[in-house]
Amino acid sequence: MQKKVILITIDCLRSDRLEIYGCKRNIAPNLNKLSKNSIIFNTAISNGPNTPSSFYAMFTSEVPTLKGRYAPLSDRLETFIEIIKKNKIKTCGIHSNPHLGKYFNYHRGFDKFVDLMIRKEESFKRRFFKKLNFLLNKLKITIFIDKFLSSEVLNFKFKTKVNTLLKTKEFFSPYADAKAIVSEAINWLNKNYRSNFFLWLHFMDVHGPLIPTKTNFKKVAKSYNYKLNKPFLSYIKTNLDERNLSKKDLPIVSILYDAEILYCDYYIGFLFNYLKNKKIYNDTNIIITSDHGEALWEHNFTGHYPYLYDELLRVPLIIKLPLSNSLNKLINTQVELIDLAPTILDIYGIPKLKRFMGTSLIPLINGKDNFNHPEFAISATYKNKNRSFHGLIKNLDDWKLLISIRSKFWKLIFSEQRNKFELFNLKKDPKERKNIYDNKNELILTIKSKLIKKIKPFLKRRITEKEKIKESIENIEIKF
Ligand SMILES: [Zn+2]
Repeated sequence: MQKKVILITIDCLRSDRLEIYGCKRNIAPNLNKLSKNSIIFNTAISNGPNTPSSFYAMFTSEVPTLKGRYAPLSDRLETFIEIIKKNKIKTCGIHSNPHLGKYFNYHRGFDKFVDLMIRKEESFKRRFFKKLNFLLNKLKITIFIDKFLSSEVLNFKFKTKVNTLLKTKEFFSPYADAKAIVSEAINWLNKNYRSNFFLWLHFMDVHGPLIPTKTNFKKVAKSYNYKLNKPFLSYIKTNLDERNLSKKDLPIVSILYDAEILYCDYYIGFLFNYLKNKKIYNDTNIIITSDHGEALWEHNFTGHYPYLYDELLRVPLIIKLPLSNSLNKLINTQVELIDLAPTILDIYGIPKLKRFMGTSLIPLINGKDNFNHPEFAISATYKNKNRSFHGLIKNLDDWKLLISIRSKFWKLIFSEQRNKFELFNLKKDPKERKNIYDNKNELILTIKSKLIKKIKPFLKRRITEKEKIKESIENIEIKF
């Protein structure tokens, strides 16, 4: 039997934007449709609140912060993609996130690795059109082009060509848009769809800066019953400089955010139609998730700064198996993104590595009684004031650990920077409003010690850069 897997990761996608997780506005019709024949994980937890910490965990099935730094991807750890490739399955990855490029080792294991960010930076033509588009924008012609491009009469190929020529959306955004990612995917699939394959697509549309098309923006504003009273571009300009935003901008930021989901969903739907036309949709395993969510002032900030609240950690996770054994099932067991590597290997019939911290979810999907998932999910990052460690800095000394341990009903967060604990009762307080940590309350201290017991051995194991250098110096063999 043929094995085909497509892993779709949508940067910054909150789970509460999909129908299956309670969204009433149909802003992701294609994903909502897919979820009707899929396994839905109600409590999927990301192991980090930002791209580098989360993807490291996803690709290696380890929570990296527990064993050292999380960027770049360690040479010593094989990713699940490398294992798939060793098993002679064709692999392709397409993305435009600078944290997921060759510099950080994310190309490993892919037969074809398309980094649209690099392509974007290198292309002279792109720069030329950027300038041209800038001029067109000055003349307010973009609005016309937007309208023209969103016309349903134009087919996808033509739209792609026009967009390549004019770069309408990309004038603002540093990332490749969903249209470009899906076009690349189709180019690759055209040559490989008959084989066993693993295809990873990472979408950046929902990541700031949020610059939706005018049509989508208007559509979403309608679904919010929001009356627009300024020109479209002025709403976009508001969100380009995050520092000027405050909670009063929540309605507009939500509309911009949702309109980007609508855009991304459209092209994901286009990909699904392609798979149907090639008659491989039914047989293809499709996994949808995001690396982390996005805060919308739940805890007085927006974006994905180093915090470990659920608006950042609870991600959508939808798995469509081949339709012959597909079911619509809602799974409430808490699972983590480190579970994806063993799950995907399981789909191909490849055993997981011993060192993996994650567990294959296939037995859970099949309703096996002996399924045993760890009770606790661990998420972590390094922070310095309000910034997350991103890997370009060599020295970790100034960066403090921020770590959370979450069971289905409790979450304990420890900030090394503030030397402070926060404890939330997720059953009574799912929005994590009330920190009930109290070092005088015995019951709370018992809960804390139960939670912290799990991470304590790892906390001691934090390797600093200095120790690493010392370790490698000690390992040098001197030959005479
Ligand atoms: Zn991200």
